[in-house]
Amino acid sequence: MSVYEEKNKCCGCSACVMICPKQCISMQLDDEGFLYPLIDKSLCVNCLLCQKVCPVLKKRDKKNNPNCYIAFSRNKNIRKKSSSGGLFTELAKQQIEKGAYVYGAGFDENFEVIHKGGSSVELLEELRGSKYVQSRMDDKYQEIKEILDKGGSVYFSGAPCQVSGLYSYLRGRPEKLITQDFICHGVPSPLVWKKYLATFGNVKKVEFRNKKYGWHYFALHIESDKKNYYKRLDEDFYLKLFLDNTTLRPICYDCPIKKQGSMADITLADCWSLNHMTDRVTDTDKGLSLVLANTLCGEKCLEELEKRGDVFKTKVDSQKAVSSQLALKKSASYNSKRNLFFDRLKNEEFSTLMNEWFRVSLKEKFRIKYVYIKTKIRFALKVK
Ligand SMILES: Cc1cc2nc3c(=O)[nH]c(=O)nc-3n(C[C@H](O)[C@H](O)[C@H](O)COP(=O)(O)OP(=O)(O)OC[C@H]3O[C@@H](n4cnc5c(N)ncnc54)[C@H](O)[C@@H]3O)c2cc1C
Ligand code: SF4
Ligand code: SF4
Ligand code: SF4
Repeated sequence: MSVYEEKNKCCGCSACVMICPKQCISMQLDDEGFLYPLIDKSLCVNCLLCQKVCPVLKKRDKKNNPNCYIAFSRNKNIRKKSSSGGLFTELAKQQIEKGAYVYGAGFDENFEVIHKGGSSVELLEELRGSKYVQSRMDDKYQEIKEILDKGGSVYFSGAPCQVSGLYSYLRGRPEKLITQDFICHGVPSPLVWKKYLATFGNVKKVEFRNKKYGWHYFALHIESDKKNYYKRLDEDFYLKLFLDNTTLRPICYDCPIKKQGSMADITLADCWSLNHMTDRVTDTDKGLSLVLANTLCGEKCLEELEKRGDVFKTKVDSQKAVSSQLALKKSASYNSKRNLFFDRLKNEEFSTLMNEWFRVSLKEKFRIKYVYIKTKIRFALKVK
């Protein structure tokens, strides 16, 4: 018996590991660097709990009918340091002030991405910002259940499949749990991230969405003892692999959550295009969030933030908003060079792969630079 039959049927949430009464499931790394459950059959009592909590096996026909907003934090510093408009920090801060624990993705001491929780505002510095690597859940669902069982409140932020996994594990929607996910492109391999990071020496700081060159042209910032590296999304090797779908987890090419709809109270996204949705906002390249309030609870949190004056938000036409975000319903398309990439990752030096994988002609280099400068001029004129 197996919890998952094929790699493209497991999102790696670890709910099965945490529910197993015999503790006979462990997460094991595959050769692409993703975690999958492995059952010790000699200990299994065939209770099938692992299958009951699996968010991929669960069938739901929940259709969300969200209210949609364009929003941003009025705190300039929070907005600057956040991936889009800084809504995560504002929502999480609001809940911490009410005594809740907040869970989200941060780094460990080796800059591996893991889920972390706590109840201090300082923790938000670590959780803030998208990390384009699959985050490890470890035993966080168990920890959250313990807090909720004791009457505590939790704000959980994660990928849509991690939010679904949490509800599956809890087998219900506890009143004191607020969840927030994001429109998800997919999650890249932790092994590729580890190998890439190793090329920088002793790393001190990582930001995947630095706004030095603006929000539309976000940059990967890595500070190490060797260099202070800033490269835009159209130049950096790691970000290019993520954005052209080479390094994503297999299930992300046919995401089950996109078909079922998010289970989170709130879904956050980048509002890359205003698409005539409103004339109350100007895109000044500082970061705008698209916010989907999927439940009444999500709606109330947003309303409260606006009343306190912490965020600017304006309601937009839901159909236009949803149709402006293809990734809400459509999975990333499979990159036909994915297998070749992982074969080469196994068999070659990473530096060789980096030097050879993206060969860009001089003409293409000029084109990329031209488009970047044109965009910068467009925003410079708007700000004036
Ligand atoms: C892997 C990934 C793919 C994404 N794909 C898209 C997309 O296709 N389209 C789109 O519009 N937006 C996408 N986003 C969301 C977007 O990057 C912003 O996170 C979102 O707009 C919220 O921005 P913010 O400024 O409010 O919050 P931020 O300060 O950016 O907060 C981000 C929140 O996400 C959590 N988080 C960060 N990294 C991870 C991770 N690896 N796994 C789980 N949780 C994480 C953090 O804990 C934090 O709670 C993606 C995010 C991630 C992490
Ligand atoms: S069937 Fe029950 S005992 Fe066996 S692996 Fe699944 S949860 Fe554990
Ligand atoms: S519960 Fe999560 S980790 Fe376990 S098989 Fe299902 S998707 Fe994979
Ligand atoms: S694309 Fe789907 S399966 Fe992949 S990380 Fe996002 S929500 Fe999970």
